[in-house]
Amino acid sequence: MSRVQRLVAAIDLHRSYTLGSEVISALRGVNMSVFPGQFVAVVGRSGSGKTTLLNIVGGLDRPSSGQILFEERDMASLDEHELTQIRRHKIGFVFQSFGLLPLLSAFENVELPQRIAGVGVRERRARAREVLEMVGLWPRARHRPYELSGGEQQRVAIARAIVNRPPLLLADEPTGELDSVNARAIFGLFKQMVQDQGISVVAATHDSTLLAMADEVLEIRDGALVQHESRGQRFRT
Ligand code: ADP
Ligand code: MG
Repeated sequence: MSRVQRLVAAIDLHRSYTLGSEVISALRGVNMSVFPGQFVAVVGRSGSGKTTLLNIVGGLDRPSSGQILFEERDMASLDEHELTQIRRHKIGFVFQSFGLLPLLSAFENVELPQRIAGVGVRERRARAREVLEMVGLWPRARHRPYELSGGEQQRVAIARAIVNRPPLLLADEPTGELDSVNARAIFGLFKQMVQDQGISVVAATHDSTLLAMADEVLEIRDGALVQHESRGQRFRT
């Protein structure tokens, strides 16, 4: 039986925070895998541990115990330079508040991660156009964030997150500031990117109406996964 190679595996992840004499257990033994071309939704109420989990998977934070394997490499064994390379080339991040630079146009915002990665100007421009077309915003490329709606800004942020072709996109409550129509459009875009580009998406949300679009739904409650509902056998063999 062949087995699809995991992109990411979380193994018995724990993360606690100490505040004075109080210890808060934000993650209490999380195990999960993300496969290439899979759209995983992590659903849970505020304070359940979604942000903590995504930050650890993305190498922005380290677990108190447990492991993250990224392409089967233990992230704890990587030095700062290797972690930076992974965050720059292998992982795209999307946040609730979009995080676009206000003085730059949509095009310039999307181009920026490629400048940082040292991509040449011709390729930068071609690639920025390609991803802005992908999210349906090429006609608005010259506009600054304040001239765009929330849904449009988030689509620019998604274009920026995938411009360096990372295999993994992490989205922390990407629809938290959007109305239901735009929220559905963003999750629909993730689904389409997974299907067309083979990228993997892990998106945290507290909105259960969006879950039907994901391949897999992980429910987190008080720092532990309580439900592991799989849609189909695509990633099981
Ligand atoms: P969610 O994203 O699902 O709302 P979080 O991962 O942000 O949940 O938080 C999980 C728990 O960890 C919460 O109880 C929160 O208060 C706590 N927490 C998160 N970050 C910190 C921190 N830096 N210091 C102390 N407690 C924290
Ligand atoms: Mg959060």
